[in-house]
Order: sequence, then C-alpha cells, then structure tokens
Amino acid sequence: MMDILLKLIIVSLCVVVVKPSVIIQRYDDDCVLDPELVEEIASYQNVTKYIVNEIKAGLGHTMYQEYTEFIDKFGARPSGTDVLERSIDHMINLTKSKGLADVTTEELEVPHWVRIHESASMIQPHLKNIAILGFGPSVSTPPEGITAQAIVINSFEELDKINAKDIQGKIVVFDAHFISYGDTVVYRTQGASKAAKKGAVATLVRSITPFSIYSPHTGAQYYEDNVTKIPTAAITLEDADLMRRLQDEGEKIVLHINMSSTFDTKKSRNTIVDLKGTVHPEKLVIVSGHIDSWDVGQGAMDDGGGMMISWFVPVVLNLLKLKPKRTVRAILWTAEEAGLVGAQAYLNKHMDDLHNINLIMESDEGTFKPLGLDFAGSKKARCIVQEVLKQFAPINKMENSGYPGSDIVIFVRKGVPGASLLNQNEKYYWFHHSEGDTMNVQNINDVIDCSAFWAAFSYVIANLSVDIPRT
Ligand SMILES: [Zn+2]
Repeated sequence: MMDILLKLIIVSLCVVVVKPSVIIQRYDDDCVLDPELVEEIASYQNVTKYIVNEIKAGLGHTMYQEYTEFIDKFGARPSGTDVLERSIDHMINLTKSKGLADVTTEELEVPHWVRIHESASMIQPHLKNIAILGFGPSVSTPPEGITAQAIVINSFEELDKINAKDIQGKIVVFDAHFISYGDTVVYRTQGASKAAKKGAVATLVRSITPFSIYSPHTGAQYYEDNVTKIPTAAITLEDADLMRRLQDEGEKIVLHINMSSTFDTKKSRNTIVDLKGTVHPEKLVIVSGHIDSWDVGQGAMDDGGGMMISWFVPVVLNLLKLKPKRTVRAILWTAEEAGLVGAQAYLNKHMDDLHNINLIMESDEGTFKPLGLDFAGSKKARCIVQEVLKQFAPINKMENSGYPGSDIVIFVRKGVPGASLLNQNEKYYWFHHSEGDTMNVQNINDVIDCSAFWAAFSYVIANLSVDIPRT
C-alpha cells in the first residue's frame, strides 16, 4: 500500500517537488468577463477591506500569538508521533474555544520513521566530523557502520557514464548544485536507488538548498522496488564542496557512516474545520496547510505558518459573523512530509465529491510577504480569480506553475481548480527541512498580511454567485 502510494506522489512539492522552473507564465489582461460579474466582484471591496482591517487591527495579532505558542509548545511534529497527535488535539480545542464547533477528523494510517543515531566522519585524507541528516525512510547501516571510499558525482548523467566497477563498494556523494528545488531534489528522492544499482553501499547528497551555515537538510526519499536499499543522508554544502575539491586534487577520500532508525506505521488524522455555507453547504472552498513537519527545527515555516493562516480562515470569518454562501473548509493535512499521505487519504475518501470542490487552496511555501496566487484552472477560472485579485493590489500577482501547493497537486490533477500562496520566499530553502526552520524565520507583520489576504480572498470566492468554472 505504502509503496504504491509513494510512487503516486513522486511528483509534488514540499516533499518531492517536480515543479518545472521554466513554465511559469504570468497572465495578460485579456480577460472578457460578464460585466455583471465584474460589478459583483467589485462590490466585495468593502467586505474584503473590513476583513483585512479587522485581522490587521487585532485578530491577526492574537492568531500570531496562538501560532507562536503552538510552535513553541509542540516543536517538530513528525508523521506517526504522539506529539503530532497532541498538536492535532490542541488545534481541535483551539477551534472550539473560538466558537467554531464544526471540527471533525478523519483517521488514516501514516508512516512512522524515527532516526535513532546518525554520525559520519572523514577518515582520509584527514580525520574530520561530517554533519549528516538521514532522509526518511532511510535504512540503517550495519551496527558497526560502513567504512568505504567516497566518489563525488555531479549528476545522474555522470553516474550513468561511470563503470559499475568504479562505483562498487563505494559511498556515492551526489554534489549537484541547487538550480531550483524541482530540478535538484531528484538527487535526494532517487539518488540512493540509482547509486545502489551500480553497487554503491551508501549515498550522501549535497543538501537541497542554495545557502548553508554548515546545515544538512532532510526530506523524503523513495527506494525503487527490487533494488538494494542503501543508507542515504544529506551533507552540508561545505562538506560537499570540500570532498569535490579533495577528489579534484587527487586525494583518496574514505568515510565512515553510522545510521540507525526504525520504521513502522501509526494512526493519524486529517483535521477538518467547517464554516457551513448558507446557500450551498455542499459546495466547498478549501484552504489548507499541513500540520506535520520534519523532525528537525520547529516546523514553524514548513508548514506551521501555512497551516495556521488556513485554519484561521473559517475561524476568523465566523468571529466576524460573515456567512458565505458556500462552505469554507480548512483542512490541516497530516503526514504531508511522509509523502502527501493525508491528502491522498482525503482524496480517496472523497473521490465521489470532488465536483463540489469549488476551489482548493494551500499555503506550503512560506508565509513571508504575500504577493498573490499560483493558480491552476481553466482560462475563465483564471479570469475570475484575476478580477478578484485586483482589489488586493499590490497582492495581485498571478502565476501558473501548473503545480500549485504540495498536497493539493493531486486534486488539481483531477481537474479541481487550485491555488497556492505566492510570497516573497526566496530564502525558503535556506531553512527548509533543517534545524533552521524555527519561529525566528517568521515575521509577525508578514504572517498577518498573508492571513488577511488568505481569509478575504477565500470569502469572496465562497460567496460569489458563480462557481469557479472547470476546464
Ligand atoms: Zn511543507
């Protein structure tokens, strides 16, 4: 079950991005909408201003305080752990304390990989500690560890060209420099099996980040069926550069790696918070983020911020006594980092009801200064969304990567219109999946601005007289 699932999700964001960096298009203003619809959208200006102002004036500050307390109280929330389940209970109770009782959960089985011990050192040409961070769910080394010569390789193309006898018994160090996450993450997700096919005994991968202060970055990786599973871990940019230079200088590099972990499955829950629609309760505008995180840092940025601003949408609309025509549903996905497991379970369970999802949104690429939306949908849908965005200028940028969000990608592929939050996230991958993902990365005003935009935009879509048209 898990293997099939993992294969299904090999193309998504946050966990395993294949987000081509070249196809992003910006939309021109060539939309022709029904003038009545344009007028209707313009008529929301007062209510969107009201929502934004109320959030910025005080409600957003309370939300940010609750966000900070949540992150500090629970810290990292890996899939399958008790702390993740306690953090879910906390959000359920917080929802109810805000006067919104319509909160439910859907249970599912999730991966539970726990790193026990990880260490590495360079033995030749000199003794040096090597910081590593295993990729989940890496297998363990033998108890005594692995001592082997290292070979530094730039790319899969280079790996293909090297004779298996030159890889046999060695530790392959993948040293691909960061281009974009989608371009570079394949060395993390697929490197171990590709190297194992040529007889490598372990892989170390240059962290998927453009910047480092000696910080390894973890993430998910996927073993191919019928290929020997070898231990695989991230190393820092500094050590990848060092080993590259040593190899170019003709030095023989010998490494020692010791890794141990456990892997089983546990129960977890997707959490669903509804503000029921007054006219079409069956129709949904979904806003979402994932509540789980990696086991390093605090999971403040990935995806505590996105989860919190999404959770806050039905909560704050309810506090403001705004009742949209359609249901506004916040979903706190579980086990996203383990491979979009929560989102896949929700999709499977609600497959017959996808036609009722008017729009599905996700924030999982940072809650820095908001810029607009990455939207996937029909031309007419894009025109409507663009018209709504006009009243949020300067937060009115619109892009179409084709793959908005992480969890929601699997819905978009089924034809559901989807949008993710565009924000000034140039530094996102500096901290992503590392000990650096803490509250220090967040800025209160930016998070509040994201939250205000997210809530007001969702409200308009949920209240429009027309559904978001599909292709
Ligand atoms: Zn994420």
